[in-house]
Amino acid sequence: MTTLFISDLHLDDGRPESTALFEQFVDEEAMRSDALYILGDLFEYWIGDDAPTATSKRVTTALTALGNAGVPCFFMHGNRDFLLGEEFARESSLTLLPQEHVINLYGKQVLLLHGDTLCTDDVAYQKVRQEVRSDKWQNWFLAQTVDQRIAFALEAREDSREHQSNLSMEIMDVNPGAVCRIFEQYGVREMIHGHTHRPAVHEHIISGGEARRYVLGDWYEQGSVIRADADGLRLDRYPFNGPAATLLT
Ligand code: MN
Repeated sequence: MTTLFISDLHLDDGRPESTALFEQFVDEEAMRSDALYILGDLFEYWIGDDAPTATSKRVTTALTALGNAGVPCFFMHGNRDFLLGEEFARESSLTLLPQEHVINLYGKQVLLLHGDTLCTDDVAYQKVRQEVRSDKWQNWFLAQTVDQRIAFALEAREDSREHQSNLSMEIMDVNPGAVCRIFEQYGVREMIHGHTHRPAVHEHIISGGEARRYVLGDWYEQGSVIRADADGLRLDRYPFNGPAATLLT
């Protein structure tokens, strides 16, 4: 059996083809897996569980079917959907995970995280992150009307695009020191994260020896998935023309 990891789908009413690909992935692959882990940014933005969208309703339907089939699904917040709450989780058969979480994956200890906390060179982003994760900010935000919150989210997305366009690729990537520190903090040799949209498998040297970092890609041009079983972890593409094509790449 297989355990599946995905992140950064950025599902949104504006890109229904990615939602359809996610539905296909759940139906054709996740249904037969041991578990599905979604490591953040499932949605392009999330303004509160009281404001479902056409897309989020489709996701709820797909994940409810998965839950009914007995496949556990775990969700970790990303920087776009950090407001996703217990109500949506309950409706969608999701178990919410903390922002850093170690699992036993077929005998190996593996750290899961979204990945944005590793991008410590982007000081401005980390400052905003700290603010919006506070109870004070979240209470203020959730007290706005749905229209006000949507307007805020769209503006924040524009600000984020502008901010990123002014940064070098290095600053937007993970900081190597932060990566080593978190490996050592948790005493693990493997981690999986997303966020940077740069799918790759990186080797790191840490004080305990070699460590491996798996980075998931986004779901814009194709899907991205890590499949894990007793033989190890594989980072694969999940193309729009179906899973069979992944065998060719
Ligand atoms: Mn992200």
